[in-house]
Amino acid sequence: MISRLHDPDYNRWACQIKRTGGCRQPIHLRGKVEHYDQATGHLLHRYSTNNEPNGVLRVACKTRRASLCPACAEVYRADTYQLVRAGLVGGKGVPEAVSSHPCLFVTLTAPSFGTVHTRREKNGKVLPCHARRNAETCPHGQTMSCTNRHRADDPRLGEPLCPDCYDYDGSVLFNAISPELWRRFTLALRRRFARLNGLTVKALRGHVSIAFAKVAEYQRRGVVHFHAVIRLDGPTGPDTPPPTWATADTLAQAVHHAAAAVTAEVKPLRRVFRWGTQIDTRPITMDGDLTDQAVAAYIAKYATKAAECVGTLDRRIQPLDNLDALPIRDHARRLIAACMRLGNEPALVDLRLIHWAHMLGFRGHFSTKSRHYSTTLGALRAAREEHMRTEEITTGRLPLFEEDTVLVIAHWEYAGQGLSLGEQLLAAALTGVRLPQIGGDPQ
Ligand SMILES: [Zn+2]
Ligand SMILES: [Zn+2]
Ligand SMILES: [Zn+2]
Repeated sequence: MISRLHDPDYNRWACQIKRTGGCRQPIHLRGKVEHYDQATGHLLHRYSTNNEPNGVLRVACKTRRASLCPACAEVYRADTYQLVRAGLVGGKGVPEAVSSHPCLFVTLTAPSFGTVHTRREKNGKVLPCHARRNAETCPHGQTMSCTNRHRADDPRLGEPLCPDCYDYDGSVLFNAISPELWRRFTLALRRRFARLNGLTVKALRGHVSIAFAKVAEYQRRGVVHFHAVIRLDGPTGPDTPPPTWATADTLAQAVHHAAAAVTAEVKPLRRVFRWGTQIDTRPITMDGDLTDQAVAAYIAKYATKAAECVGTLDRRIQPLDNLDALPIRDHARRLIAACMRLGNEPALVDLRLIHWAHMLGFRGHFSTKSRHYSTTLGALRAAREEHMRTEEITTGRLPLFEEDTVLVIAHWEYAGQGLSLGEQLLAAALTGVRLPQIGGDPQ
């Protein structure tokens, strides 16, 4: 910390750190950017990291995972919030009239892979976990009953009563195939909605389009389920109203039917997967029980959470990692082991289970949306970068040129990542970002 403070380049370093917005693990780049006049070939401007502190430029890591970098994950969360909200009430290029389009908040769950410890409440009282008077004993000698009233922070929640009976293979295969199950659900939903209105899918397209935004959330047992905003628009998207016969009620009917009907098969194992029986649909209104703000905040929150809330790792598992030595709970270890074992089967290579073992088999995107839902994360990012660029020009770091008369040649290489402990303290002071727990953070 002291050597950084005394470094003659401290001010420039501090400036770089401020620009990363408090990123916990900034990426170090070494390289140069040259601007040439396209007509004459003259070098107009050269920027090189040679003159930067330690010869590198520090840029934000831009992860969406809060466990890796709270500051960058916060940017991602805020962008996701804006994106989901724009699809509900307009803004960011989406007309405000979308707020009158029928819209549902839908939750699709995973099926059961065995009895797990749960916490349920009724009238404010916590119920016994899994009380059975004449509980059977499983082949491993475990009584299939648990009369505990689990606390909300009980680490056993989501873990099986008998790990040896639990279908770990099924759990990770479901995660792996769930993006396909979702895709089939959206197709089936269009078909069903068309039929309920006496139309073919093709004819429906002339009147109604259906827009989606969804996030995946890990349940404690380590399977994903999906929360989605599903909205009815007119034929060209959010800028046209849907016809009056296209109602939220009919949409809800179609959701229930489609979710119950679709299946996806892991063909080499002849295992067929479908959604769990708990399917929830709730209308989103501006002033009702479920408001646009609540939905946008909910979806954005899950966009930055990944499998590590189940107790797995927030990094890829290497083939040489000793699973027994990883600092994780046994349930997560067994899920990861199932990924590693199934991932070695030649017939299942397409599922890339080894690559996604730390995600417990799920390799889909955490938040996705259909083309017409609202603005894109890319557009929000571009708007922010444009703002940064303008700032660079006004502070004299980048020359102001006509875009199409200048040839830009850039060369960058990765030169490391992260901050030393002392630098972390300085960065926290500079950016007002909460410090990671010292000693408890592998980064
Ligand atoms: Zn970061
Ligand atoms: Zn229990
Ligand atoms: Zn058992």
